Amino acid sequence: MLECARTKGPCSVKPVPDPPTCPPPPPPPFPWIYVWVVGSFLSIMGILYKMYLWRQEKEKLGESVPIWRPRRKMKRPFHSTDLPACVQYLIVGAGAAGWAAYNAIMEHDKTAKVFIISKEDCLPYDRPPMSKHMWWNADPPDIFHLNYVELGKRHTMYLAKCLDFLDPVKFYRKKKGPAVSIATGWCVLRVDADDHVAFVKTLCGEQPIYYERCLLAPGSKPRNLSIFKYAPKAVRDRVCTLRTVRDLEIAYRKVKKSKHVTIIGAGPLGCELAWHLGRMNKAVERHEDEEPIQFVQIYKDRGILGGIVPEYLGEWAAEKIRAEGVNCMRQTQVYDAFESADGRLELTLSNGTSLITDYVFVCVGADPRTEMAGPSFLETDPVNGGFLVNTELEARTHLYVAGDAASIYSQWKDTRIRMDHYGPAAEQGYIAGSNMTGYWIPCNMEPHFRLSLEGALVMEVVGEVGACMPTVGVFKPCSDEAKPQVHAAPADASGGGDRPCYKKSDEYQNRYKRGLLYYMRDEFIVGIVFWNMPPMENRKDVATEILRSRPTYKEINKISELLGLPETECEEKAEEALRETGPCIQNRREF
Ligand SMILES: Cc1cc2nc3c(=O)[nH]c(=O)nc-3n(C[C@H](O)[C@H](O)[C@H](O)COP(=O)(O)OP(=O)(O)OC[C@H]3O[C@@H](n4cnc5c(N)ncnc54)[C@H](O)[C@@H]3O)c2cc1C
Repeated sequence: MLECARTKGPCSVKPVPDPPTCPPPPPPPFPWIYVWVVGSFLSIMGILYKMYLWRQEKEKLGESVPIWRPRRKMKRPFHSTDLPACVQYLIVGAGAAGWAAYNAIMEHDKTAKVFIISKEDCLPYDRPPMSKHMWWNADPPDIFHLNYVELGKRHTMYLAKCLDFLDPVKFYRKKKGPAVSIATGWCVLRVDADDHVAFVKTLCGEQPIYYERCLLAPGSKPRNLSIFKYAPKAVRDRVCTLRTVRDLEIAYRKVKKSKHVTIIGAGPLGCELAWHLGRMNKAVERHEDEEPIQFVQIYKDRGILGGIVPEYLGEWAAEKIRAEGVNCMRQTQVYDAFESADGRLELTLSNGTSLITDYVFVCVGADPRTEMAGPSFLETDPVNGGFLVNTELEARTHLYVAGDAASIYSQWKDTRIRMDHYGPAAEQGYIAGSNMTGYWIPCNMEPHFRLSLEGALVMEVVGEVGACMPTVGVFKPCSDEAKPQVHAAPADASGGGDRPCYKKSDEYQNRYKRGLLYYMRDEFIVGIVFWNMPPMENRKDVATEILRSRPTYKEINKISELLGLPETECEEKAEEALRETGPCIQNRREF
């Protein structure tokens, strides 16, 4: 209220009425934020749950296992410009022959500069363990180590370590040897022997490398059956022609995932592979639920090693493979192959049946790699295959060929021979390497190789052998009991019901336990097979000397005596029993 007396103004102004009551405040907005938060939370949870269900479903179907893919092919050095332009010693191929040649060069020329080129993208390695102990590893082959265990000792397939080789650029810059370098994953296309140039395949054509001396050791490539070669990819993916580490890496994983594996062929490779795979079921620890893999070996003869030993021995040896649980299907061939309705492989066999399998090894031999011969204008052998070389392994001046790919003129036999085994390849490589440094060593060797089914059968072959040659077998009489001890064959004995129980008897088992097999050409002995004979020092050299003296069949008994057949024990003594006891040391001090 205004005080008129004090302000002295008119008092006509009406008092201000009280303001109306305030309207109620608007209601708070709907908390959409909470709805959004809850909604988002629920949808995220829903998505996570859906993903969980999806993963569980995949796990049930077995799809969630990471898919292994073969590693990418790596070239070392990566750029072709890093390859040396000219080298003193060039070795094409880092197999048995190439590696032996490198060792021989280093031995004879202390200032050598050696450059090795290999098509495979790994360091030089031994091939034989790939059909043997590598299969008894619990884990797939590890490309960094390639380890395996043989007779309780750990070995590696590698012949050299990465550190042994210089980088190609540093190698080229180095003025004086000794030096060695390697290019892996690079392929030599051709050689110009007139100008001493090897041409390496590059992305944009060829790169020349000038050499002073060159060795070609390209080895051989495995044969395949045409039914697999021209089959659809689904079939080809289930077939392996074991030759390289890459093949082994793939095959190992596929075999481990398979229930049924088939080995086609019964040559040395097929037999070793079948026996070691059969034993793999026992040698490698398996999960309780895992069923053992079934193995089948298919071959067209009555016995195994049909091209080497007579039928009766082949049949006897097949029992050793059967004993490891391998089903040996003799006198059978594979006529066709296609994918079955359940995604497996169906093989149509010559006996009118078909075989459902998961993986197939084709072990039907190998052909020499002679692709380089045409473009290099080098002569090949129309009969044996391989590059034609003289006794010093020279195809052209300063150009040598060794190993599986060489057809050598043998002075002893006055004929050409080609050997595709590890020992001869290494020996030829050594001779070629020595000759590259200035020697002129003749390569006059007898063909030789060894087949080992560790304990069950060890066969060493020296000289010319062939199933169509007349043979004389001398075997140690190991069964002195008049009555054969016949063991009843179990009902589920592998190998089918047509097998007579006699083959299980001790008499049969002992019949060809140890012996010597002589191969005849006219009346002369040209080849010897040591059948399960105990090891002997320099056996190969002794047999070679014997064969060189051109003995006749009349001397068979004398040779058998010389090779120690009469003294051979039927049962091999344990290693401890063979160990010579040293002089008895009295007053021995214990530490
Ligand atoms: C699985 C398996 C087991 C075997 N077991 C035995 C056994 O127990 N006993 C036995 O005596 N023999 C065995 N062999 C055979 C033996 O390994 C070969 O006879 C021997 O390795 C041949 O040696 P090599 O040097 O002539 O050829 P390989 O060892 O084949 O080497 C050839 C090399 O040349 C390379 N090469 C090829 N072409 C080119 C090119 N154009 N440019 C560059 N590089 C090239 C290849 O990549 C390879 O590295 C076995 C073979 C295999 C596959």
